[in-house]
Amino acid sequence: MPVLRPILSTVLLLGGTGEARRLAGALAGTPGLRVVSSLAGRVKAPSLPAGEVRIGGFGGTTGLVQWLRDNRVDAVVDATHPFAARITAHAVRACAATGTPLLVLSRPGWTAGPGDRWHWVPSLDAAARLLPELGGRVFLTTGRQDLAVFADLDLWFLVRTVDPPEPPVPRHAEVLLARGPFTVDGERDLLERHRIDVVVTKDSGGIMTAAKLIAARDAGIPVVVQRRPPLPTGPGVERAESVEDAITWTQNLLQS
Ligand code: NAP
Repeated sequence: MPVLRPILSTVLLLGGTGEARRLAGALAGTPGLRVVSSLAGRVKAPSLPAGEVRIGGFGGTTGLVQWLRDNRVDAVVDATHPFAARITAHAVRACAATGTPLLVLSRPGWTAGPGDRWHWVPSLDAAARLLPELGGRVFLTTGRQDLAVFADLDLWFLVRTVDPPEPPVPRHAEVLLARGPFTVDGERDLLERHRIDVVVTKDSGGIMTAAKLIAARDAGIPVVVQRRPPLPTGPGVERAESVEDAITWTQNLLQS
């Protein structure tokens, strides 16, 4: 008969990023620890993290509060994408309501270096307004949502997404379905082949999708960068920038 260890602690890991998968991989299998990774369910064939996974929204803050109570969650790590502001806001409120410790893991944003021609904008709307003065052929890498703001522009777009974008999409567009990581050589080839004048990106940070920035710099092409939404603050909200720090935070919490 196998010896069953009692579950001592439960951690909810809000995921959908490479960092969340790495964290789940590091924590899964820790004796006495139940780690549940949560995915929104947007991507058709997601790269699944190690360990237990649940998929789909919780039903707003109220639903998340209920889930935390039903599952007797001891800590939440929000390792969602820096632009997934809604679920982060829900996590802050739900953790405050239930007294659950919350760590928001957010990788550092990108910073421009010598030779970069970056234009920072606060929103995709602002990016769309700026584009006509930067060029006629656009490489759009902001994801499959919220492309409506580009729909009526008289420009040509190469739209790269993991799953097909949600309409309305730009009128003159080619869709390229691909998932990172991308290489500098590959990105350089893409820019050349499609005679790209300007790149549009979110300030996602990380190395998985940074190659396009190097390729654009090498080609002297401008990049329109959408600023991140502000990180939440609040009583009991802690922050980390690396998976290693998030592992330490979780282990310390569980030992205390
Ligand atoms: P969002 O706008 O912050 O959240 C919208 C709703 O989706 C939330 O209210 C929640 O529904 C549900 N949701 C989001 N993340 C969830 C998670 N990890 N587990 C369960 N439910 C979740 O989020 P988003 O920007 O659409 O991003 C969705 C997912 O894609 C996230 O997991 C994020 O990490 C990943 N992602 C986002 C981007 C991006 O650019 N936004 C890029 C790469 C990956 P309920 O209110 O019903 O709970």
